[in-house]
Amino acid sequence: MNEITYKLERKKIIEIVPKHLVGNYWLGFKNSNDEFNIKYIGRSLKWINSGLQKRLLDHASKNEFTHFSYRAAGSTKEVYNIECREYHRLRDQIVNIRHPDSPHGLNLDCEYCRTYIINQNYSKSLRDGVLHG
Ligand SMILES: [Zn+2]
Repeated sequence: MNEITYKLERKKIIEIVPKHLVGNYWLGFKNSNDEFNIKYIGRSLKWINSGLQKRLLDHASKNEFTHFSYRAAGSTKEVYNIECREYHRLRDQIVNIRHPDSPHGLNLDCEYCRTYIINQNYSKSLRDGVLHG
């Protein structure tokens, strides 16, 4: 994922995030070691109505989190795959409770659910590997 984080503030979002993007975003807090503690994952599947930028502005207005990171994607499928990967990687620490839904009308499978059944240590090894590599 994109490890660069920004302050979740209206002015910063407008400066950093282009309009009309589809993609993923991460919300959370910076700890005293300047590490990004992710608490929420989200997505924008539509570039209309300013897409990702609008979603982040909505979150900023709620004052629930202090920092964000984002990643633009090339397709709805790419957004969903990353969202699923991040859900499984971060599920112990995020406030998202439900597994991400497939984008409307596409009926995509989560490849990480399938892998997890095959190898029950998968979630842990993925988390360790991704966070430190
Ligand atoms: Zn899954």
